[in-house]
Amino acid sequence: MNYHGQAVYPMSDLITARELVGRRIQLKLLRENQFQIPCYAANLMGVIKSNGDVMACELRDDKLGNIREFDYDFRKLWLGERAKAISKDIIANKCFCTHECFMSTNILFNPRLYPRLVGEVAKLKAARAIGRLKSPRRLKTSDVGVPTPRVQKSES
Ligand code: SF4
Repeated sequence: MNYHGQAVYPMSDLITARELVGRRIQLKLLRENQFQIPCYAANLMGVIKSNGDVMACELRDDKLGNIREFDYDFRKLWLGERAKAISKDIIANKCFCTHECFMSTNILFNPRLYPRLVGEVAKLKAARAIGRLKSPRRLKTSDVGVPTPRVQKSES
């Protein structure tokens, strides 16, 4: 995979490494249609809908609760029994999908993936050191294959 990444700010290599590891996991998941890594939805992340319903993610129907029922005390809802049960169910039943945002957190908070992240960071740094990895630059028309307008000369 050739990815120039965002080599312009501190920690950018880690972000690029996370994206590379994530793409490989997503690809494997799609090819095998199988669980790859645990999901920390309803534990480290979740979704609040406009009506106050709090969900583990956008893809599951089981609701942790509605923030109104908890007198707008999010902590109480998030640390409640129902949230714990849903979080446990997600892990125990090896829920899986390719949800990009959740995948990012699932990678960054999974110590088992740290060797892979460190490996990708090392490869990015090595590639840059030997000059194969160029700094990001502005795209030119020729990069994206848009034809340059030409004025046709008249033959008369
Ligand atoms: S694996 Fe996907 S569907 Fe399952 S809880 Fe996580 S984000 Fe939701």
